Amino acid sequence: MSALSNKVDVLVIGAGPCGLLSALALARGGIEVEIVDRARRSSAQSYACGIHSATLELLGTLGLAQQALESGFRVDTVGLYEGAERRGELLMSELKSGGFPFLLVLPQDRLEELLEQELRQRGVRVRWGHRLDTLHQDENGVSATVETLAMTSVGYPYARSEEAVEKETEVHARYVIGADGAASHVRQILNLPCERHGEPTAFEVVEFEPVSDVGREVRIVFGPGTQDALWPQSSSIARWSLQRTEAEAATFQSDGGDFALGSTTETPDKEAIVARILERAPWFKAGIKEVDWATVVGFDSMMARNFGVGRVWLTGDAGHQTSPIGMQSMNVGLREAADLAGRIQRALRQGAAPEIFAEYERQRREEWSLLLGLKGGLSKTPKTTPWANSQRRRLLGSLPASGADLATLARQLGLELA
Ligand SMILES: Cc1cc2nc3c(=O)[nH]c(=O)nc-3n(C[C@H](O)[C@H](O)[C@H](O)COP(=O)(O)OP(=O)(O)OC[C@H]3O[C@@H](n4cnc5c(N)ncnc54)[C@H](O)[C@@H]3O)c2cc1C
Repeated sequence: MSALSNKVDVLVIGAGPCGLLSALALARGGIEVEIVDRARRSSAQSYACGIHSATLELLGTLGLAQQALESGFRVDTVGLYEGAERRGELLMSELKSGGFPFLLVLPQDRLEELLEQELRQRGVRVRWGHRLDTLHQDENGVSATVETLAMTSVGYPYARSEEAVEKETEVHARYVIGADGAASHVRQILNLPCERHGEPTAFEVVEFEPVSDVGREVRIVFGPGTQDALWPQSSSIARWSLQRTEAEAATFQSDGGDFALGSTTETPDKEAIVARILERAPWFKAGIKEVDWATVVGFDSMMARNFGVGRVWLTGDAGHQTSPIGMQSMNVGLREAADLAGRIQRALRQGAAPEIFAEYERQRREEWSLLLGLKGGLSKTPKTTPWANSQRRRLLGSLPASGADLATLARQLGLELA
């Protein structure tokens, strides 16, 4: 592979789903792009696994919908529970605006693989093991120092491997996209404040082979102070995300920096997980034959006060975080990534005014203020059931959709999106 270029139109920091998608959208638009990630490879875990209907639409515009559908597992309904009671049902088929009126379960690592393959076809290779160190910008462009990382053997008499900086490259870019996740280094360099809206939460996430089929429905369980979700992954694998109680979450320490997003090395105990599931979802009869993967993950509700400055803009978890139940962070992040790439393309090709980035920020803040329940939200109508009314605040972050689709799903519960 050729060396990292010193001069490029756009430098993307972070090759998670949002960075990969923004790089792909730019490459498709004929923009020269480099994408770097400090990790040695893309995520090997499934992390976020639900693809919203609108995201499928977006993948369709990138020529990836068919491959996603072939790799994924279609889900048509979402059941809403309060303990043993089924309180509501959402039919994805009501999402009539697009061509994909359903949810697709597609593990995050598979989505990343699809995006990376498509990027490679366009001649762009992810520079794994490349870490952004510094950024400086003026009105003409951005200068970034990127470190190439290599494993070296250190220590005597017992050698161990350690990551070391092999070389530094000065990259001059017209624009930089910060898609470097919840603990964003780009956000920190720009000194952009980030605000937490609510207490951090922690979830035990367990992927397992059930004893019997769990069906094709996502199920969300509302308990006193907790929310849990069962996502089928395929006909033979399913995932429970079980929220820890407030007291348990208070002692959770993640590897995610100032904000909670990040996993720990702590592995939840299988017996305790089964007991927790049965206590919260007594209707769950499929059983756990084998645990394939389990972890504890912390999540925050947070939003950056600004989404960028000048020629450097944030997208994805670098700008926001929310509960994992509705899979909103990654899905909304992917749409943002495409939007930002389109704006940069217009600025580069058509000389669009810098105001288009101020508008990007305004729209992001508006959307996230709504999703985080800071503005507007779900309001009661004569059709709202007492249960849906009592859960309005929590439903907002748990419905697997955003924008007009979120309004359509909410309407099925007799709620209006303000
Ligand atoms: C264990 C786990 C489980 C999760 N489960 C769910 C779930 O159930 N539902 C849900 O909605 N979400 C879940 N998430 C969150 C979801 O994975 C994120 O919303 C999604 O990955 C965000 O994508 P992103 O592209 O914005 O950032 P990320 O995927 O975080 O990618 C950021 C990338 O930037 C790179 N990077 C960071 N700093 C630098 C630097 N200085 N230089 C170069 N590269 C850098 C990182 O290596 C990383 O690859 C989970 C996350 C974890 C960790």
